[in-house]
Amino acid sequence: MSTLQGKTALVTGASRGIGRAIALRLARDGANIAGLDIKDDLLEETGALVREQGVEFLPITADVTDFDNMKAAVGQFTEAFDSLDIMVNNAGITRDNLLIRMSDEDWRAVISVNLTGVFNGIKAVARPMMRQRSGRIVNIASVVGMVGNAGQANYSASKGGVIALTKTAARELAGRGINVNAVAPGFIRTAMTDELSEEARESALGQIPFARFGEAQDVAAAVAFLAGPDSSYLTGQVIRVDGGMVM
Ligand code: NAP
Repeated sequence: MSTLQGKTALVTGASRGIGRAIALRLARDGANIAGLDIKDDLLEETGALVREQGVEFLPITADVTDFDNMKAAVGQFTEAFDSLDIMVNNAGITRDNLLIRMSDEDWRAVISVNLTGVFNGIKAVARPMMRQRSGRIVNIASVVGMVGNAGQANYSASKGGVIALTKTAARELAGRGINVNAVAPGFIRTAMTDELSEEARESALGQIPFARFGEAQDVAAAVAFLAGPDSSYLTGQVIRVDGGMVM
């Protein structure tokens, strides 16, 4: 039997990149999926791939920065499915610049999606998961939230915040049978890293013992472990998927 047979999962930022790979991996493991994204144009592509795995797919258009949107999204989810077993807070953006040149707008935009978005996601699923006295929440952080990165003051602060938020939520929700963990990717090949300059790419590769970028599927595999039955005694943890970049 597939490890997630009969389970349900809500994945944010599921239109492309790592979010799509997570949706596909959890579907392959047997879970019914709701894919949430701010725009609906690419969600149906994810939906078609998910349904090929023989599970259900519910597309939800919502903005993670808006709590009411997220609450309504969870309402849509619980109408469609009997339980809410897995929440993956994956949606994220970058607006890179050196600290002294970073605009207030770029600071706020990144904190709003990457950190407030995760807070909204956790808060929106907490009540239904508390009622069922079980649940798995997996937040996508980044290794730069641990070690910092020049040019990413907003992004690294948001991801460091996600790690602290993960640990706090893990402490608060453990008594209700809810595990909250994070995955911290290093450099993964997606649209987000396609934007890197050749110089930035070379410098990144120099810091990675495996000397290559990871794939979205590498991140999805760690999420599947944290969402599945083999990690029931793990909470408040951060799994780095970074080719050994941060040890
Ligand atoms: P991506 O390809 O840019 O995908 C991010 C998805 O999130 C997009 O579909 C985007 O929608 C959606 N999104 C953005 N703002 C949203 C909002 N307010 N509400 C709902 N959805 C929203 O990025 P990715 O590389 O797959 O990254 C996924 C996660 O992994 C992010 O949290 C990122 O920080 C993290 N991460 C990535 C890497 C990497 O190397 N790629 C490394 C470490 C961590 P649009 O397409 O409409 O913008």
